[in-house]
Amino acid sequence: MGKKVVVTGVPGVGKTTVVTGALEQLMDEGITYTSINFGTFMYEVAVREKIVENRDEMRKLDRTIQKRLQKEAAAGIAAASGTMNVIIDTHSSVKTPAGYLAGLPEWVLRELMPDVIVLVETDEDQILQRRLGDESRVRDMEGARSIAEHQQFNRSLAAAYAMLTGCTVKIVRNEDFLLDRAVREMADILR
Ligand code: AMP
Ligand code: MG
Repeated sequence: MGKKVVVTGVPGVGKTTVVTGALEQLMDEGITYTSINFGTFMYEVAVREKIVENRDEMRKLDRTIQKRLQKEAAAGIAAASGTMNVIIDTHSSVKTPAGYLAGLPEWVLRELMPDVIVLVETDEDQILQRRLGDESRVRDMEGARSIAEHQQFNRSLAAAYAMLTGCTVKIVRNEDFLLDRAVREMADILR
C-alpha cells in the first residue's frame, strides 16, 4: 500500500513550492509520488458546470455547492490514487464568507485515509507579503491577525483529523530565505 500524505497550509504559504522541491529531491532517489491538487479536482467539475471562471471563486460559492464539489473531488482522488504513493495538496480549512469550511470533513477523510497531515506554516506577516506579491492568483487581502487566526484554526482541525484517522500531524515551517530547509523536511516526511 502506498503512502498517503496530505499537505495543507493557508493560501500563499508556499505549499506547492515546498512540495515541488521535495518531489524533485525524491525523484533523484527513485522515490515516486503522484501529486494531486484537491482544488484542481474541484475546479474541473466547477468549470464543466460553468459556475466559476477561476479557482479562487470556488471558496465564495454557496457552501452546499462547495461541499458537493468537495465530495466529488474526494471520490475522484480516491479512485485515482489506488495503491500508489500520493501527495494531496489541499487545505485544513477554507476561509469562506460563511466561516471556516473544514477541508477534510469525515466523509473526505474516509476516502483519503491519510498517513500524515502536514501543516505548512510561517509567520503571518510573511504570508501577507507573499500574497501581495502573487499576481497569478486572486488572493484574499486580510490582515496579519486574521491570517494568524486561520493558521491556529487549521491546527485545531488537524488535531481532530488525527483523532478520526490515527494519522500523524507534522508542522513544516516555510520561512523567508529558508525554503531549502522546508523542502528537506518535507522530503523526510515523504521518504
Ligand atoms: P488552492 O489551489 O490549493 O489554493 O485551492 C483552490 C481552491 O480549491 C481553494 O480556494 C478552495 O476553494 C478549494 N479547495 C481546495 N481544497 C479543498 C478542500 N479540501 N475542501 C474544500 N475546498 C477546497
Ligand atoms: Mg497551491
